[in-house]
Amino acid sequence: MARERLYLFDTTLRDGAQTNGVDFTLADKLAIAAMLDELGIDYVEGGYPGANPTDTEFFSERRHLRGKFTAFGMTRRPGRSASNDPGLAMLLDAQADAICFVAKSWDYHVKVALETTCEENIASIRDSVRAAKQKGREVLLDCEHFFDGYKANPEFALACAKAAYDEGARWVVLCDTNGGTLPHEVEKIVGDVVKLIPGDHVGIHAHNDTEQAVANSFAAVRAGARQIQGTLNGLGERCGNANLVSIIPTLKLKPEFADKFDIGVSDAALKKLAYASHALDERLNRAPNRHAPYVGDSAFATKAGIHASAIMKDPATYEHVAPEGIGNKRKVLVSEQAGKSNVLAELERVGIKADKDDPRVSRLLDIVKERETIGYAYESADASFELLARRTLGAVPAYFDVTQFDVTVEQRYNAVGERVTVAMAVVKVKVGDQDTISAAEGNGPVNALDQALRKDLGKYQKYIEGLSLTDFRVRILNSGTEAVTRVLIESEDENGERWTTVGVSANIIDASFQALMDSIVFKLVRSGAPV
Ligand SMILES: [Zn+2]
Repeated sequence: MARERLYLFDTTLRDGAQTNGVDFTLADKLAIAAMLDELGIDYVEGGYPGANPTDTEFFSERRHLRGKFTAFGMTRRPGRSASNDPGLAMLLDAQADAICFVAKSWDYHVKVALETTCEENIASIRDSVRAAKQKGREVLLDCEHFFDGYKANPEFALACAKAAYDEGARWVVLCDTNGGTLPHEVEKIVGDVVKLIPGDHVGIHAHNDTEQAVANSFAAVRAGARQIQGTLNGLGERCGNANLVSIIPTLKLKPEFADKFDIGVSDAALKKLAYASHALDERLNRAPNRHAPYVGDSAFATKAGIHASAIMKDPATYEHVAPEGIGNKRKVLVSEQAGKSNVLAELERVGIKADKDDPRVSRLLDIVKERETIGYAYESADASFELLARRTLGAVPAYFDVTQFDVTVEQRYNAVGERVTVAMAVVKVKVGDQDTISAAEGNGPVNALDQALRKDLGKYQKYIEGLSLTDFRVRILNSGTEAVTRVLIESEDENGERWTTVGVSANIIDASFQALMDSIVFKLVRSGAPV
């Protein structure tokens, strides 16, 4: 059976930029656009030329993408002609392959928000599509509030969509702008629309306010729509947009869709999806969602002993798809409930050979249990577990020794009379026969300690050059009689490889020091640094 082409439209750089706390620079936009293009996204929407200097600059020159570089903007304003609307002129002049217009399709909004007539709204759609076609652009129309509009006045909502299609718009995109429509409603309404406009000209743009944006996108496809709009990691205003990172693997790996549709994302590109998802979070300076479907750290993680032993026999027993296809990894967690099979599975995953009858395996299990009672969390700190395992079963070289450290925090007036708090750390390190002393300032005591520790590791320095700390999480635990602090540190190297380490102590500096040390030693082990 011939497969149909299904198109993907990414709006991370426009709708995704509406996310609270997200502010893309031009460099961010260029990097993300390149990443989306590499994935094989058909349309990369860059922003709203004229709305702000970054977007205007982004569209000031031709960006060469395999996909279609798309500008977003409003249809001509009511009461103006297309040739006498500065906003529209800017959009038409933008260096883009395609233009995505947004227009109202709910009569209530036309009257209340736009303060114009339904006829004028439709005329504005026709004029704008025509003007963009004349400029040689591919045209899309986002019908704002389409589903609410359709429920209130189906004739008018359809007339807006039809006007754009008749005028030559390549796509008419039905937007669930409030994000409140449910999948069965989407399927029914899209089914009605495709009786009037062929499905291969109909798109879906879903927001996630009932956490069903992904489901709504698939409901629309089932009803005949052939373009899905969404964002990386579901970025977007309020609860976000449809998450392309969840949509893409479902389209590629689930027979329901994979047997019927081709998309622009190749199998090879799919293997980079987890990386792309994490790279976006990295750029936004936030920790990736461990529980994200397909790409999260926990997406293929198993905890209970009985599941772990079955997974060892055949992964298909507890996995809906193979993690490698999306660039993720299988993980068997070590925890308080861990049985020996868990430990063995985890050892195998990190590449340590062990015999199940080896008494050291039982000893490792005992140590893990004992340390977890005092607050260590090895299921979150894979790298610390690996080091512990290597130390128990074989040997982790004593690359270097921190013989002493000192951290001070001082509050004082600076040269311009402002009160500032400065942290300073001094670290004495012994590498072989060589003693070094390093000092560093930081914006806090842990930061200063980290800077000083990584300043001069002698012959090991070159192995840790690309190391950076990407996340630092502190939690106060009440274990037994006294409160202790657990610190989790997430690190990353020059290849984008990430790992997490843990430290526990009554003293936060000490807990941080343990986690920092594990992170550095882990990197040396991974790099095969010589003793
Ligand atoms: Zn939107």
